[in-house]
Amino acid sequence: MALLLQGATVRNGATERLKKRIEDLTAKPHLVIIQIGDRDDSAAYIAAKKRFGDKIGARVTHVKFAQDVLQEEIIKKILEYNGDTSVHGIIVQVPLPEHLNKDGVIDAIDPTKDVDGLTAVNLKRLWENKPGAVVPATTRGIAELLRFYNIPVEGKRVVVLGRSSLVGKPTALYFTHRNATVTVCHSHTLNLLEETKKADIIIVATGKPGLITRDHVLPHQTVIDVGINTVQGKLEEEIEGKKIVGDVDFLGVEKIVSAITPVPGGVGVMTVLSLFENLLDAYETQHAI
Ligand code: NAD
Repeated sequence: MALLLQGATVRNGATERLKKRIEDLTAKPHLVIIQIGDRDDSAAYIAAKKRFGDKIGARVTHVKFAQDVLQEEIIKKILEYNGDTSVHGIIVQVPLPEHLNKDGVIDAIDPTKDVDGLTAVNLKRLWENKPGAVVPATTRGIAELLRFYNIPVEGKRVVVLGRSSLVGKPTALYFTHRNATVTVCHSHTLNLLEETKKADIIIVATGKPGLITRDHVLPHQTVIDVGINTVQGKLEEEIEGKKIVGDVDFLGVEKIVSAITPVPGGVGVMTVLSLFENLLDAYETQHAI
């Protein structure tokens, strides 16, 4: 039976620490979340961020634009928040509607307020492993989860499945800087089984439910399931009325590996925590100037 890497346990412990850190500040850290359109999944993620922000005493402002909003209108709003000293972090919930230029929107955010770490300036800092680089929340959450459960990274073989700009690439890059030997697999990887079996830690971020089965894993491995997939009808767990699963066939894999994250309650929970850690770091940087 694998050790369950429970994001919820880590987060419960961190909540009091963050609360205390915020109580000691002169102003409330303030996060602005910009949402464009009406996607149900985005609304659920934003609600989770807002709930956690409220819990720790941060201020969270949710700004909504219509699906057909013009790029200039969003950028105008972002520039307003860039200049507002009461705002410490700004995120734009992705994915964006197709008519918008994602890079143009994201790069309008002041890099010191970019708590998702997705602006070109921050990605370059991460690329170069510069001090002060903002580690995107999901990647930071995975790293924190491994640290909490004392799972070493240095010198280990980490196999990342997925090469998206949001999760796969920054995660692969981050663990390279942490002195792991990293392999990136993607939809064109031949013989995935062979690649996953080389790993000490497998990080799966593909959006393909059930992709990783008992055939892909070995007993010494740690499996981090980043996937959040809504599926109807055949699932054991339920969250906010939606049934969600990861990218790993949990019941098959947990019988074999040494440690595994559940979905829900694993990486997703850590991502929200790490977003607010990034917000507090941004607050401190802005107040140190
Ligand atoms: P994406 O669709 O942008 O990227 C998916 C990646 O998976 C691609 O690089 C693709 O090459 C790779 N892929 C697809 N099929 C594959 C296969 N058969 N073998 C190997 N690689 C394959 O998705 P994303 O934004 O990176 O998100 C991935 C998953 O993680 C989704 O389920 C998403 O909902 C979830 N997610 C979770 C969190 C969290 O906090 N837990 C945060 C962001 C995304």
